[in-house]
Amino acid sequence: MADRMESLLESAPPAAAARALEETDAALERWKRVLPENDWPAHAPYIAEIRRLKRERNAVLLAHNYQMPEVFHGVADLTGDSLALAREAADVDAGVIVVCGVHFMAETAKLLNPSKTVLIPDPDSGCSLADSITAEDIRRLRARHPGVPVVTYVNTSAAVKAESDICCTSANAVEVVESLDSDRVIFLPDEYLGRYVAGRTKKDLILWKGHCEVHEKFTGSELCAYREDYDGLMILAHPECPPGVLAEADYVGSTAGMIREVAKRVPRRVLLATERSMSDNVAAQFPEIEFVRPCYSCPHMQRITLPKILDSLQNLRHVVEIDPVVAGRAREAVRRMLDLAPRTIR
Ligand code: SF4
Repeated sequence: MADRMESLLESAPPAAAARALEETDAALERWKRVLPENDWPAHAPYIAEIRRLKRERNAVLLAHNYQMPEVFHGVADLTGDSLALAREAADVDAGVIVVCGVHFMAETAKLLNPSKTVLIPDPDSGCSLADSITAEDIRRLRARHPGVPVVTYVNTSAAVKAESDICCTSANAVEVVESLDSDRVIFLPDEYLGRYVAGRTKKDLILWKGHCEVHEKFTGSELCAYREDYDGLMILAHPECPPGVLAEADYVGSTAGMIREVAKRVPRRVLLATERSMSDNVAAQFPEIEFVRPCYSCPHMQRITLPKILDSLQNLRHVVEIDPVVAGRAREAVRRMLDLAPRTIR
Protein backbone atom coordinates (compact mmCIF):
# COMPACT_ATOMS: atom_id res chain seq x y z
CA MET A 1 0.00 0.00 0.00
CA ALA A 2 2.85 2.39 0.89
CA ASP A 3 4.46 1.91 -2.52
CA ARG A 4 1.16 2.59 -4.22
CA MET A 5 0.71 5.81 -2.22
CA GLU A 6 4.21 6.99 -3.10
CA SER A 7 3.71 6.41 -6.79
CA LEU A 8 0.38 8.21 -6.62
CA LEU A 9 1.96 11.20 -4.94
CA GLU A 10 4.76 11.34 -7.49
CA SER A 11 2.38 11.40 -10.44
CA ALA A 12 -0.45 13.42 -8.88
CA PRO A 13 -1.63 16.54 -10.76
CA PRO A 14 0.22 19.13 -8.62
CA ALA A 15 -1.76 22.32 -9.35
CA ALA A 16 -4.98 20.74 -8.23
CA ALA A 17 -3.58 19.21 -5.06
CA ALA A 18 -4.27 21.92 -2.50
CA ARG A 19 -7.69 22.86 -3.87
CA ALA A 20 -8.64 19.22 -4.16
CA LEU A 21 -8.67 18.58 -0.45
CA GLU A 22 -11.48 21.10 0.03
CA GLU A 23 -13.38 20.16 -3.09
CA THR A 24 -13.51 16.54 -2.09
CA ASP A 25 -14.40 17.08 1.52
CA ALA A 26 -17.84 15.45 1.28
CA ALA A 27 -16.24 12.27 0.02
CA LEU A 28 -13.73 12.51 2.85
CA GLU A 29 -16.48 12.00 5.41
CA ARG A 30 -17.38 8.63 3.91
CA TRP A 31 -13.77 7.77 3.32
CA LYS A 32 -12.82 8.29 6.98
CA ARG A 33 -15.04 5.42 7.99
CA VAL A 34 -13.24 2.81 5.93
CA LEU A 35 -9.64 3.83 5.24
CA PRO A 36 -6.88 5.74 7.02
CA GLU A 37 -7.34 9.48 6.59
CA ASN A 38 -3.63 9.69 5.73
CA ASP A 39 -4.43 8.10 2.36
CA TRP A 40 -6.57 11.06 1.40
CA PRO A 41 -3.87 13.57 0.32
CA ALA A 42 -2.54 11.06 -2.23
CA HIS A 43 -5.92 10.42 -3.78
CA ALA A 44 -7.61 13.82 -3.48
CA PRO A 45 -5.84 15.51 -6.45
CA TYR A 46 -6.90 12.67 -8.71
CA ILE A 47 -10.43 12.74 -7.40
CA ALA A 48 -10.72 16.49 -7.96
CA GLU A 49 -9.29 16.33 -11.48
CA ILE A 50 -11.41 13.34 -12.47
CA ARG A 51 -14.54 15.13 -11.25
CA ARG A 52 -13.61 18.23 -13.26
CA LEU A 53 -12.94 16.19 -16.39
CA LYS A 54 -16.23 14.33 -16.03
CA ARG A 55 -18.07 17.64 -16.25
CA GLU A 56 -15.94 18.84 -19.15
CA ARG A 57 -16.43 15.61 -21.13
CA ASN A 58 -20.09 15.11 -20.20
CA ALA A 59 -19.03 11.76 -18.82
CA VAL A 60 -20.64 9.49 -16.29
CA LEU A 61 -18.64 7.00 -14.25
CA LEU A 62 -20.11 3.60 -13.35
CA ALA A 63 -18.41 1.61 -10.58
CA HIS A 64 -18.99 -1.97 -9.53
CA ASN A 65 -19.39 -2.78 -5.83
CA TYR A 66 -15.95 -4.46 -5.92
CA GLN A 67 -14.11 -1.29 -6.87
CA MET A 68 -11.60 0.11 -4.40
CA PRO A 69 -13.05 2.68 -1.97
CA GLU A 70 -11.23 5.67 -3.47
CA VAL A 71 -12.99 4.92 -6.77
CA PHE A 72 -16.31 3.85 -5.27
CA HIS A 73 -16.64 6.78 -2.86
CA GLY A 74 -14.40 9.29 -4.59
CA VAL A 75 -15.42 9.49 -8.25
CA ALA A 76 -18.32 7.13 -9.10
CA ASP A 77 -21.65 8.58 -10.25
CA LEU A 78 -23.49 5.27 -10.22
CA THR A 79 -22.57 2.18 -8.22
CA GLY A 80 -23.99 -1.30 -7.94
CA ASP A 81 -23.82 -4.93 -8.99
CA SER A 82 -23.71 -6.21 -12.57
CA LEU A 83 -27.47 -6.01 -12.99
CA ALA A 84 -27.72 -2.48 -11.60
CA LEU A 85 -24.86 -1.31 -13.79
CA ALA A 86 -26.45 -2.91 -16.85
CA ARG A 87 -29.72 -1.11 -16.10
CA GLU A 88 -27.98 2.19 -15.37
CA ALA A 89 -25.90 1.83 -18.51
CA ALA A 90 -29.10 1.49 -20.52
CA ASP A 91 -30.46 4.79 -19.15
CA VAL A 92 -27.33 6.91 -19.03
CA ASP A 93 -27.72 10.39 -20.46
CA ALA A 94 -24.08 11.27 -21.17
CA GLY A 95 -21.82 11.23 -24.18
CA VAL A 96 -19.08 9.26 -22.45
CA ILE A 97 -19.42 6.31 -20.08
CA VAL A 98 -16.40 5.27 -18.04
CA VAL A 99 -16.81 1.76 -16.66
CA CYS A 100 -14.86 1.09 -13.48
CA GLY A 101 -15.12 -2.66 -13.42
CA VAL A 102 -13.89 -5.50 -15.55
CA HIS A 103 -13.94 -5.78 -19.31
CA PHE A 104 -17.19 -7.71 -19.74
CA MET A 105 -18.98 -4.96 -17.78
CA ALA A 106 -17.66 -2.34 -20.17
CA GLU A 107 -18.79 -4.47 -23.09
CA THR A 108 -22.28 -4.71 -21.57
CA ALA A 109 -22.39 -0.94 -21.22
CA LYS A 110 -21.36 -0.61 -24.88
CA LEU A 111 -23.99 -3.14 -25.99
CA LEU A 112 -26.67 -1.05 -24.34
CA ASN A 113 -25.25 2.27 -25.51
CA PRO A 114 -23.99 1.60 -29.03
CA SER A 115 -23.89 5.27 -30.02
CA LYS A 116 -21.93 6.41 -26.96
CA THR A 117 -18.24 6.37 -26.22
CA VAL A 118 -17.60 3.71 -23.59
CA LEU A 119 -14.19 3.73 -21.91
CA ILE A 120 -12.48 1.23 -19.66
CA PRO A 121 -9.46 2.58 -17.76
CA ASP A 122 -7.59 -0.73 -18.08
CA PRO A 123 -8.54 -2.96 -21.02
CA ASP A 124 -6.71 -5.90 -19.44
CA SER A 125 -9.10 -6.09 -16.50
CA GLY A 126 -10.37 -9.60 -17.16
CA CYS A 127 -12.31 -12.18 -15.19
CA SER A 128 -11.66 -15.87 -14.56
CA LEU A 129 -15.31 -16.67 -15.22
CA ALA A 130 -15.45 -14.75 -18.49
CA ASP A 131 -12.19 -16.40 -19.56
CA SER A 132 -13.49 -19.91 -18.80
CA ILE A 133 -15.67 -20.17 -21.91
CA THR A 134 -15.61 -19.21 -25.59
CA ALA A 135 -18.24 -18.78 -28.28
CA GLU A 136 -16.97 -22.00 -29.86
CA ASP A 137 -17.58 -23.88 -26.58
CA ILE A 138 -21.24 -22.81 -26.71
CA ARG A 139 -21.63 -23.85 -30.33
CA ARG A 140 -20.30 -27.30 -29.38
CA LEU A 141 -22.69 -27.54 -26.43
CA ARG A 142 -25.64 -26.60 -28.64
CA ALA A 143 -24.62 -29.32 -31.10
CA ARG A 144 -24.50 -31.84 -28.25
CA HIS A 145 -27.85 -30.70 -26.78
CA PRO A 146 -29.99 -29.61 -29.73
CA GLY A 147 -32.95 -27.39 -28.91
CA VAL A 148 -31.87 -26.75 -25.29
CA PRO A 149 -31.85 -23.00 -24.50
CA VAL A 150 -28.65 -21.35 -23.29
CA VAL A 151 -28.62 -18.98 -20.31
CA THR A 152 -25.37 -17.07 -19.93
CA TYR A 153 -24.24 -15.24 -16.82
CA VAL A 154 -23.34 -11.62 -17.59
CA ASN A 155 -19.77 -12.41 -16.54
CA THR A 156 -18.97 -13.40 -20.13
CA SER A 157 -17.59 -11.78 -23.25
CA ALA A 158 -19.89 -10.22 -25.86
CA ALA A 159 -18.94 -13.07 -28.22
CA VAL A 160 -20.27 -15.60 -25.70
CA LYS A 161 -23.41 -13.56 -25.03
CA ALA A 162 -24.01 -13.50 -28.78
CA GLU A 163 -24.30 -17.31 -28.78
CA SER A 164 -26.83 -17.26 -25.91
CA ASP A 165 -30.62 -17.10 -25.75
CA ILE A 166 -30.72 -14.89 -22.69
CA CYS A 167 -28.36 -13.48 -20.05
CA CYS A 168 -28.74 -13.46 -16.29
CA THR A 169 -27.02 -12.05 -13.23
CA SER A 170 -26.65 -13.60 -9.79
CA ALA A 171 -29.67 -11.48 -8.75
CA ASN A 172 -32.06 -12.86 -11.35
CA ALA A 173 -30.62 -16.24 -12.43
CA VAL A 174 -33.45 -18.32 -10.92
CA GLU A 175 -36.15 -16.12 -12.49
CA VAL A 176 -34.45 -16.20 -15.88
CA VAL A 177 -34.16 -20.02 -15.86
CA GLU A 178 -37.77 -20.35 -14.70
CA SER A 179 -38.95 -18.08 -17.51
CA LEU A 180 -37.81 -20.51 -20.23
CA ASP A 181 -40.24 -22.90 -21.87
CA SER A 182 -37.97 -25.92 -21.59
CA ASP A 183 -37.35 -28.63 -18.97
CA ARG A 184 -33.62 -28.57 -19.71
CA VAL A 185 -31.43 -25.49 -19.72
CA ILE A 186 -27.74 -25.00 -20.48
CA PHE A 187 -26.47 -22.64 -17.77
CA LEU A 188 -23.01 -21.07 -18.21
CA PRO A 189 -20.28 -20.58 -17.16
CA ASP A 190 -20.37 -20.48 -13.32
CA GLU A 191 -20.68 -24.00 -11.95
CA TYR A 192 -21.38 -22.90 -8.37
CA LEU A 193 -24.03 -20.34 -9.33
CA GLY A 194 -25.50 -23.04 -11.56
CA ARG A 195 -25.67 -25.50 -8.68
CA TYR A 196 -27.31 -22.84 -6.52
CA VAL A 197 -29.92 -22.19 -9.22
CA ALA A 198 -30.43 -25.94 -9.77
CA GLY A 199 -31.45 -26.23 -6.12
CA ARG A 200 -34.23 -23.68 -6.69
CA THR A 201 -35.80 -24.91 -9.89
CA LYS A 202 -37.26 -28.19 -11.14
CA LYS A 203 -35.50 -27.73 -14.47
CA ASP A 204 -32.54 -29.91 -15.37
CA LEU A 205 -29.46 -27.69 -15.71
CA ILE A 206 -26.45 -28.55 -17.86
CA LEU A 207 -23.50 -26.80 -16.22
CA TRP A 208 -20.00 -25.64 -17.13
CA LYS A 209 -16.88 -25.78 -14.94
CA GLY A 210 -16.19 -22.06 -14.76
CA HIS A 211 -15.32 -20.54 -11.38
CA CYS A 212 -14.62 -17.12 -9.94
CA GLU A 213 -11.02 -17.16 -8.72
CA VAL A 214 -11.99 -14.97 -5.76
CA HIS A 215 -15.17 -16.64 -4.51
CA GLU A 216 -13.81 -20.17 -4.91
CA LYS A 217 -11.19 -19.37 -2.26
CA PHE A 218 -13.79 -19.31 0.53
CA THR A 219 -14.42 -22.54 2.45
CA GLY A 220 -17.19 -23.63 4.80
CA SER A 221 -14.70 -24.55 7.54
CA GLU A 222 -13.15 -21.09 7.32
CA LEU A 223 -16.54 -19.51 7.92
CA CYS A 224 -17.19 -21.88 10.85
CA ALA A 225 -13.94 -20.69 12.40
CA TYR A 226 -15.02 -17.04 11.98
CA ARG A 227 -18.31 -17.85 13.72
CA GLU A 228 -16.43 -19.29 16.69
CA ASP A 229 -14.18 -16.25 16.91
CA TYR A 230 -16.85 -13.57 16.45
CA ASP A 231 -19.94 -13.80 18.61
CA GLY A 232 -23.19 -12.85 16.86
CA LEU A 233 -21.63 -12.91 13.38
CA MET A 234 -24.03 -12.82 10.42
CA ILE A 235 -22.56 -14.39 7.27
CA LEU A 236 -23.76 -13.36 3.82
CA ALA A 237 -22.38 -15.18 0.79
CA HIS A 238 -22.36 -14.63 -2.94
CA PRO A 239 -23.69 -17.61 -4.96
CA GLU A 240 -20.39 -17.78 -6.88
CA CYS A 241 -18.98 -19.37 -3.67
CA PRO A 242 -18.67 -23.18 -3.40
CA PRO A 243 -21.68 -25.11 -2.01
CA GLY A 244 -20.01 -25.69 1.42
CA VAL A 245 -19.78 -21.91 1.87
CA LEU A 246 -23.40 -21.32 0.89
CA ALA A 247 -24.51 -24.02 3.34
CA GLU A 248 -22.77 -22.14 6.15
CA ALA A 249 -24.22 -18.72 5.22
CA ASP A 250 -27.20 -17.00 6.85
CA TYR A 251 -28.06 -15.35 3.55
CA VAL A 252 -27.12 -16.04 -0.07
CA GLY A 253 -27.56 -13.41 -2.75
CA SER A 254 -26.08 -10.89 -5.12
CA THR A 255 -24.00 -8.00 -3.86
CA ALA A 256 -27.09 -5.74 -4.06
CA GLY A 257 -29.09 -8.38 -2.19
CA MET A 258 -26.42 -8.52 0.53
CA ILE A 259 -26.55 -4.75 1.01
CA ARG A 260 -30.34 -4.83 1.29
CA GLU A 261 -30.18 -7.67 3.82
CA VAL A 262 -27.60 -5.87 5.96
CA ALA A 263 -29.77 -2.73 5.90
CA LYS A 264 -32.85 -4.74 6.88
CA ARG A 265 -31.29 -6.81 9.68
CA VAL A 266 -28.63 -4.37 10.97
CA PRO A 267 -26.65 -7.16 12.70
CA ARG A 268 -23.93 -6.40 15.23
CA ARG A 269 -21.25 -8.15 13.17
CA VAL A 270 -21.18 -9.04 9.49
CA LEU A 271 -18.98 -11.10 7.20
CA LEU A 272 -19.52 -10.72 3.47
CA ALA A 273 -18.20 -13.81 1.69
CA THR A 274 -17.34 -11.92 -1.47
CA GLU A 275 -14.66 -9.62 -2.87
CA ARG A 276 -12.88 -7.65 -0.14
CA SER A 277 -13.47 -4.07 -1.35
CA MET A 278 -17.21 -4.63 -1.09
CA SER A 279 -16.86 -4.78 2.71
CA ASP A 280 -15.00 -1.47 2.73
CA ASN A 281 -17.62 0.14 0.52
CA VAL A 282 -20.60 -1.17 2.49
CA ALA A 283 -18.98 -0.49 5.86
CA ALA A 284 -18.95 3.22 5.01
CA GLN A 285 -22.77 3.14 4.90
CA PHE A 286 -23.15 1.26 8.20
CA PRO A 287 -20.79 2.71 10.81
CA GLU A 288 -22.69 0.97 13.61
CA ILE A 289 -21.89 -2.52 12.23
CA GLU A 290 -18.56 -4.31 12.70
CA PHE A 291 -17.38 -5.84 9.42
CA VAL A 292 -15.17 -8.93 9.64
CA ARG A 293 -13.13 -8.93 6.42
CA PRO A 294 -11.53 -11.95 4.82
CA CYS A 295 -8.82 -10.66 2.47
CA TYR A 296 -9.81 -12.07 -0.92
CA SER A 297 -9.41 -9.32 -3.50
CA CYS A 298 -10.11 -9.48 -7.22
CA PRO A 299 -6.85 -8.64 -9.02
CA HIS A 300 -8.81 -7.67 -12.14
CA MET A 301 -11.03 -5.16 -10.34
CA GLN A 302 -7.97 -3.69 -8.66
CA ARG A 303 -6.41 -2.85 -12.00
CA ILE A 304 -8.78 0.12 -12.13
CA THR A 305 -6.95 2.90 -10.29
CA LEU A 306 -7.45 6.66 -10.03
CA PRO A 307 -4.42 7.45 -12.27
CA LYS A 308 -5.77 5.11 -14.96
CA ILE A 309 -9.25 6.65 -14.74
CA LEU A 310 -7.72 10.10 -15.09
CA ASP A 311 -5.68 8.98 -18.11
CA SER A 312 -8.76 7.40 -19.66
CA LEU A 313 -10.77 10.62 -19.34
CA GLN A 314 -7.95 12.92 -20.39
CA ASN A 315 -7.12 10.95 -23.54
CA LEU A 316 -10.45 9.25 -24.18
CA ARG A 317 -8.91 5.78 -24.03
CA HIS A 318 -9.42 2.83 -23.95
CA VAL A 319 -12.51 2.86 -26.14
CA VAL A 320 -14.61 -0.32 -26.05
CA GLU A 321 -15.43 -1.61 -29.55
CA ILE A 322 -17.48 -4.69 -30.44
CA ASP A 323 -17.98 -6.23 -33.86
CA PRO A 324 -21.44 -4.98 -35.00
CA VAL A 325 -22.79 -8.44 -35.86
CA VAL A 326 -21.64 -9.88 -32.51
CA ALA A 327 -22.96 -6.79 -30.72
CA GLY A 328 -26.41 -7.09 -32.28
CA ARG A 329 -26.84 -10.70 -31.16
CA ALA A 330 -25.32 -10.13 -27.71
CA ARG A 331 -27.55 -7.09 -27.18
CA GLU A 332 -30.61 -9.23 -27.81
CA ALA A 333 -29.56 -11.67 -25.07
CA VAL A 334 -29.03 -8.83 -22.58
CA ARG A 335 -32.26 -7.10 -23.63
CA ARG A 336 -34.27 -10.29 -23.11
CA MET A 337 -33.00 -10.34 -19.55
CA LEU A 338 -33.79 -6.68 -18.94
CA ASP A 339 -37.25 -7.04 -20.51
CA LEU A 340 -38.12 -9.97 -18.28
CA ALA A 341 -40.32 -8.51 -15.54
CA PRO A 342 -37.97 -5.55 -15.14
CA ARG A 343 -39.55 -4.36 -11.91
CA THR A 344 -39.54 -7.72 -10.14
CA ILE A 345 -36.06 -8.99 -11.04
CA ARG A 346 -33.88 -7.56 -8.31
S1 SF4 B 1 -14.58 -11.15 -8.54
FE1 SF4 B 1 -14.54 -13.06 -9.73
S2 SF4 B 1 -16.34 -12.91 -11.10
FE2 SF4 B 1 -15.89 -10.83 -10.33
S3 SF4 B 1 -14.52 -9.94 -11.87
FE3 SF4 B 1 -13.19 -10.85 -10.28
S4 SF4 B 1 -12.74 -12.91 -11.09
FE4 SF4 B 1 -14.52 -12.15 -12.24
